[in-house]
Amino acid sequence: MSTAWRIGVDARRCIGTSICAGTAPEHFHLVGGLSEPLADVVEPADVVLDAADSCPVEAITVRDATDDRLIAPEE
Ligand code: SF4
Repeated sequence: MSTAWRIGVDARRCIGTSICAGTAPEHFHLVGGLSEPLADVVEPADVVLDAADSCPVEAITVRDATDDRLIAPEE
């Protein structure tokens, strides 16, 4: 079981819908119209996966901070 996840937002993909910030406001906010994670490394939490899965352009990735394994979005 992962003890930490690394959140990434691809600014080239993000179209600023704010869905992630609405789903997980404790993890995402919009800066200049694009999403940024509030913290790059977080404790594992379902709401982070929900935000990644809800992004319509799959701009959010969640990886295991230890081994870089992709956790979300599901391939
Ligand atoms: S849900 Fe995706 S496209 Fe919308 S603001 Fe978040 S990262 Fe950007």
